[in-house]
Amino acid sequence: TQYVYRFGGGVSDGGQGDKNLLGGKGANLDGMAAIGLPVPPGFTISTPMCARYYDEGERFPEDVKAEVSAGIAHIEKVTGKTFGDAADPLLVSVRSGARVSMPGMMDTVLNLGLNDRTVEGLAAASGDARFAWDSYRRFIQMYADVVLELDHGAFEEALEIAKEDKGYTLDTELTSEDLQALVAEFKSLVEAEWGRPFPQDVHDQLWGAIGAVFGSWQSERAKVYRRLNDIPGDWGTAVNVQAMVFGNMGETSATGVAFTRDPAKGDRAYYGEFLINAQGEDVVAGIRTPQYLTKAAREAAGARPLSMEEAMPEVYGELARVFDLLERHYRDMQDIEFTVQQGKLWMLQTRSGKRTAKAALKIAVEMAAEGLISEEEAVARVDPAALDQLLHPTLDPQAQRDVLTKGLPASPGAASGIVVFDSDTAEKRAGTGEDVILVRVETSPEDIHGMHAAKGILTARGGMTSHAAVVARGMGRPCVSGAGTLAIDAKNGVMRVGAREVKAGEVITIDGASGEVMLGAVPTVQPELAGDFATLMVWADKVRRLKVRTNAETPLDCRTAREFGAEGIGLCRTEHMFFDAARITAVRQMILASDEAGRRAALDKLLPEQRADFTEIFEVMAGLPCTIRLLDPPLHEFLPHEEAEFAEVAAAAGLDVETLRRRAAELHEFNPMLGHRGCRLGVTYPEIYEMQARAIFEAACDVAAKSGEAPIPEIMIPLVATRRELELMKAVVDKAARAVFAEKGGEVAYLVGTMIELPRAALKAGEIAEVGEFFSFGTNDLTQTTLGVSRDDAGRFLTTYVEKGIFARDPFVSIDVEGVGELIRLAADRGRAARSGIKLGICGEHGGDPASIAFCEEVGLDYVSASPYRVPIARLAAAQAAL
Ligand code: PEP
Ligand code: MG
Repeated sequence: TQYVYRFGGGVSDGGQGDKNLLGGKGANLDGMAAIGLPVPPGFTISTPMCARYYDEGERFPEDVKAEVSAGIAHIEKVTGKTFGDAADPLLVSVRSGARVSMPGMMDTVLNLGLNDRTVEGLAAASGDARFAWDSYRRFIQMYADVVLELDHGAFEEALEIAKEDKGYTLDTELTSEDLQALVAEFKSLVEAEWGRPFPQDVHDQLWGAIGAVFGSWQSERAKVYRRLNDIPGDWGTAVNVQAMVFGNMGETSATGVAFTRDPAKGDRAYYGEFLINAQGEDVVAGIRTPQYLTKAAREAAGARPLSMEEAMPEVYGELARVFDLLERHYRDMQDIEFTVQQGKLWMLQTRSGKRTAKAALKIAVEMAAEGLISEEEAVARVDPAALDQLLHPTLDPQAQRDVLTKGLPASPGAASGIVVFDSDTAEKRAGTGEDVILVRVETSPEDIHGMHAAKGILTARGGMTSHAAVVARGMGRPCVSGAGTLAIDAKNGVMRVGAREVKAGEVITIDGASGEVMLGAVPTVQPELAGDFATLMVWADKVRRLKVRTNAETPLDCRTAREFGAEGIGLCRTEHMFFDAARITAVRQMILASDEAGRRAALDKLLPEQRADFTEIFEVMAGLPCTIRLLDPPLHEFLPHEEAEFAEVAAAAGLDVETLRRRAAELHEFNPMLGHRGCRLGVTYPEIYEMQARAIFEAACDVAAKSGEAPIPEIMIPLVATRRELELMKAVVDKAARAVFAEKGGEVAYLVGTMIELPRAALKAGEIAEVGEFFSFGTNDLTQTTLGVSRDDAGRFLTTYVEKGIFARDPFVSIDVEGVGELIRLAADRGRAARSGIKLGICGEHGGDPASIAFCEEVGLDYVSASPYRVPIARLAAAQAAL
């Protein structure tokens, strides 16, 4: 097998690049080389080597060493420099590059190839001793951190002290002599901490760095990132070794990052940041606040230092041409890293840029309009899960705001929460249900868990492409970065803006769209669903086959879902109506009644209430199918559990406390999920289902008579395991229908069907379909009963199961296609065989999960049903599944 692929200098071994083999970065370096862009020469060690490296006990086999030597020879040939040469040394960068980008998660080493001899050569060859010593200083620091894993704090401290001693404030004030002294100090720090001198052999340096990059694939933060982003651990990373180019060789040199379109808003405008006389990491790390790329952006921000367009017009012009070329070549918005070395532009990286949902939408819709991609490709380009960002509320423009300060609008959306200054606390407090805003001077990859737990992120330092901004956009968290007036004193749990103080635990609001930071919680308004969103949804609906319904039981939810495009109700859980404070007393009287007559008396009180519920829902859902599920949970759920409540409840129900306590004890179950619930309630107390059916039919007849638009009730019996259960319950419903239609002198069409949420029901779906007119897969219970895993207790161990690869994803979030999926497939087939054209849907949580929706498409279900806010996600996912 070949492991090393060369690129640059007219070579592109990978030929357009296979991301799975070369990693994203390697594949695109190859791709850029292939279309003749200026890429510093280098080579990629392919991803299969990562697994082999671990298999061979973290060592490199001889065949690979020979290939790497050939790779170095290629770089030497193109650059005319020699690796380790004392006169004019070749320096390289060593970077990771997985199939998908994992920003900031893995390691990089720059300036590799410097030692006590080559540093002199670099000084002589470049004519800039300060530059050479600064590069060596940076190299030792990075190598010590990344490869030798020494405490980086000691090096930073030494640097700070060196500056203080001289009375400097900026790194750039350090002279060549200062840096030379600092290098000596760094080297002795290495020797003291590591026990051996800093490696002088450039080949040892290279192999150390390659090993560290492969090693970083298994770092804790990389593992967390993979878990959060569903990236399989066996993919591995590639390693890219590439000739260094220098953005820190004076005023005609620079380094920058750019997007070919605005990654936050999606506007068609070049967007980016650069720094003159700096190295790549300086921009991304957010240590110096970078300059704008374009004149327009600089002017809009009212910023002072010149933009690249103004400061380096020629190179900027060349860069702009490259942007257009790359967008046309890759047919997507690109995220680019470049360096200018003494006036010459070099491309270091390009990849599809991460973007907010808003930008994803806008870019997809506009690229289709520009003819760059088709409408169907536009539909495929937007991640359905990311729509979530757009469907949530933004700050009410009318609301009072007490603006504390303003930073950069790094990731849109508004969030309120308590101020927390470190990631561990953020995770802990969020775990107890609090909304937190993570406030940091700047974030690093170590903050990934805190950022994930937080509702929003605020940083005092860093630009629009800082770690905080990039990661927050990827996660869909609102973020305000670079709020420069903010002084954070994390140690004492306080931050200040001028004389104003905010303590840890106090509530603030951030607006990631404007960059404003406000004191207190600011009210929000519903999102605007017109524009690009509507356009894309129309395109999605054109290709979608699956219908999309909603799980809703309040008129408000029904209305929201309809605005989001729901085509009916897939699950109305009627028990939620029973919990209503105004009715719970009647519900309890029903439960506590000693005989059927008592129960009926209480149910008579509930009838008009239920009828009113259904009337409102039918009115909102005018003419659309509404699946209404009859009572499902065990009765004891409606009784008090706390000793203190008994007296009050007993008084309200007109009973003595003893009776109530006895009845509660009688109803107690050891395993309520498998207990007296679902249709088992209807079988034992048919009068409950009878009342509910009556309420549904009365409401349906009333709405039909009044509006002329007949609702289509689909009455659903829960937790059926056998044909006989469904037969009995259907008889109750049909009888109520006949009675109501006779009283009202009118009829409405209706169906009676069942949930398939027990393995036996799936197996016996053929028999059950002879009675039931539709099936709705209740995948919450079906997952619970098929796996034998309690849906309420699974959280404690399922993360470990996912980490160990037992499940690719939490089976309560995304269908276990192999197991639960097989039962669904089988039930669908048997149901269809028994009743041709039987209507099939899904109403478990999985109905709003894009991967599960793809499975539903494959099985040929008729519809999926999701909670209101997930309806657009389901529409888009259904469209993508059909493509
Ligand atoms: C299900 O079990 O999938 C379902 C939708 O019903 P519930 O969640 O109410 O048990
Ligand atoms: Mg269920």
